Amino acid sequence: MRANLDQVIERLKAARKALVVGHVRPDGDAIGSVAALTLILRKLGVEAEGCIPDPVPWFYREIPGTRVLRSVEELRGREFDTTVVVDTSALPRIGAAAELLSGREPDVVIDHHATNTGFGSLNFCDPSYAAVALIVHEIGRRLVEYDEELAELLLLGTATDTGFFKYANVDARVFEMAAELARHGARIQHIASAVLEHRTPKTIRLLTEMFRTLRLEEGGKLAYAYVSADMLRRTGCGEEETEGFVGEIRSLHGVEVAILFTEWPEGEVHVSLRSKSYVDVSRVALALGGGGHPRAAGCTLRVPQLQEAIARVVEATRQAMTTSP
Ligand code: 5GP
Ligand code: MN
Repeated sequence: MRANLDQVIERLKAARKALVVGHVRPDGDAIGSVAALTLILRKLGVEAEGCIPDPVPWFYREIPGTRVLRSVEELRGREFDTTVVVDTSALPRIGAAAELLSGREPDVVIDHHATNTGFGSLNFCDPSYAAVALIVHEIGRRLVEYDEELAELLLLGTATDTGFFKYANVDARVFEMAAELARHGARIQHIASAVLEHRTPKTIRLLTEMFRTLRLEEGGKLAYAYVSADMLRRTGCGEEETEGFVGEIRSLHGVEVAILFTEWPEGEVHVSLRSKSYVDVSRVALALGGGGHPRAAGCTLRVPQLQEAIARVVEATRQAMTTSP
């Protein structure tokens, strides 16, 4: 059922033992929103746990509030009367955390993806919010007193989903809410340093290898590159170290659509799509079984050959580009 924020708040207030879950391959919004909502519920006296189904990339751990996050293994066997899924457009995106729901649908879904499938008992999805962290802030500010840790988690989600306040989803409300979070003690410089300046010599080597695969098509408007399983092995990098790589492709002058293909594990290719101003890449991702936002979307393809995935996605993107204004 579609719900408004008041209904979501009433349901959260009725919780006694709550589980908050985010998506696989977690980004700053999933991490910040899960940890922040967990802390908000705990401030309300709820016994709350926050779960991220894949390992949290190490550099996010520099944000103190992320210490509340647990893995699926750590929570196995626990019972919850209230389950909340955040920043997730479709149920399969919670991966192994599905087992913690004990076969029931989530009680509450809080999201901002236009492609959300409405898979909870109560669904609040509003794509006008640049980050789910801002929706969690709408909830939290009505219920609890803030401290630095909570404010910083919410600013983390906001900063990462807006490309540090530079994407098309940034409006006056984003700055107003970010200012509130800063007033509560959230440190944007600390977040920026943790999230944007974590590269190591091996990630730079991987980035260099990725750039060797760069192709430009459609008169320079479409740019794509890949990271193969072999490249990850050779450089000793984990798949999570490709964080931010698609943004490097998008940074090329004149590019409208940027695509990064990451082959990991072998036989599986994760596709990250980004656009700058007019191509709706969520349509492309949705047609390939994924989802996302108009300017940032993704999908995962199971194909034996990386080049096969590239050919399919590039063709679908070319078509979307020719039918876009
Ligand atoms: P990224 O490229 O950073 O993995 O994801 C960009 C956006 O697309 C995010 O909003 C993310 O939630 C969404 N997304 C990425 N991969 C998938 C996928 O496999 N399925 C769905 N439904 N959404 C995805
Ligand atoms: Mn998000």
